[in-house]
Amino acid sequence: MNNVTHLECAACATQYPAGRVYNLCEKCGKPLLVRYDLAAAAKSLTRESLSSRVSSMWRYREVMPVDSDENIVTLGEGWTPLLHAKRLGKSLDMDELYIKDESVNPTQSFKARGMSAAVSMAKELGVRKVAAPSAGNAAGALAAYAARAGMEAYLFMPRDTPRANVVECVELGANVTLIDGLITDCGAEVARRKDAEGWFDVSTLKEPYRVEGKKTLGYELAETLGWTLPDVIIYPTGGGTGLIGMWKAFDEMEEMGWIGSARPKMVTVQSEGCAPIVTAFEKGERFADMFPNAATVASGLRVPKAIGDFLIIDAIRKSGGSAVAVSDAELIAAVREIGAAEGVFAAPEGGACLPALRKLIERGEVRRDERVVLFNTGAGIKYIEAFSS
Ligand SMILES: *Cc1c(COP(=O)(O)O)cnc(C)c1O
Repeated sequence: MNNVTHLECAACATQYPAGRVYNLCEKCGKPLLVRYDLAAAAKSLTRESLSSRVSSMWRYREVMPVDSDENIVTLGEGWTPLLHAKRLGKSLDMDELYIKDESVNPTQSFKARGMSAAVSMAKELGVRKVAAPSAGNAAGALAAYAARAGMEAYLFMPRDTPRANVVECVELGANVTLIDGLITDCGAEVARRKDAEGWFDVSTLKEPYRVEGKKTLGYELAETLGWTLPDVIIYPTGGGTGLIGMWKAFDEMEEMGWIGSARPKMVTVQSEGCAPIVTAFEKGERFADMFPNAATVASGLRVPKAIGDFLIIDAIRKSGGSAVAVSDAELIAAVREIGAAEGVFAAPEGGACLPALRKLIERGEVRRDERVVLFNTGAGIKYIEAFSS
């Protein structure tokens, strides 16, 4: 019942048959992406058909990788509001400022989209034990979807991960290990133990299906905006799954004849304390170096080395977009500004979008009359320690 034709390496284009468990490309070690027969998908997945469909990301069923509906593991993720931020927009002299509010997802972040897709596929392929390193929200989401699927979850987080994330995982029945180090150290621990333990590694982009969940962000933006795309998308980037996913969704929608070839300017925002993509983009490089001494309260952005770096940077460049670093003080101050103006208690990562927008306007890279979407990727309430009030 799915329309998957094969998986394909995003770097060397080696093809792999669907229906098997995969991590990275066996030839070059880069991420695999799922490819579909989009002509077949478009026969039943029409823009008109969507009005009567489920209010979750699974409304785009034909471009999702799961074969049998019985294997879909869902808590109602996706189909989140695109809020017209009129008061915040007014303070910036902008009429068309929007916030895609992902804090209303199950487990309060957009990680739910990726994990719903990944755990559904893991279930379909017979996986019993899943493992992942996480800066916090991915662990909470994996714990929830694994519980719902009846799987064991093994989660590795830095010791200084926000406490709410750790408590959440434990209460959702997962096996939690705290590591003295960064998410990359946690990833190394999963890699070291997974074969002996029989774990399937669900790390960002080392697993091909999380990005399929995240790509629904792109479908939702287009559907909500009446099959147009915004002019600018500002996205707080850690591993980059959401940005890579949206970029893939735009190509899929164009191939199905739903949208034209115009693309939003894709903007990565990172914290000055961990800005590997910004650094590589500014140097004109395609691959990012490991960012030394990574530190930021926006824990989802504390990814010193992203395996999909080239996919993020390619999308930014092809779209005429940009990459911006903001300080932790700026992003924390922006949480209150967004909260007080719009009633959304944003995650620090979401807060980062606002100072980034101001910088882009100052630099002349974004105009005040453009239609801009800020991504609030998670919920501020999970980062209580980060706020002084
Ligand atoms: C994980 C996370 C991010 C970064 O997402 P990527 O897809 O890894 O770039 C941003 N914000 C929050 C709240 C997150 O949990």
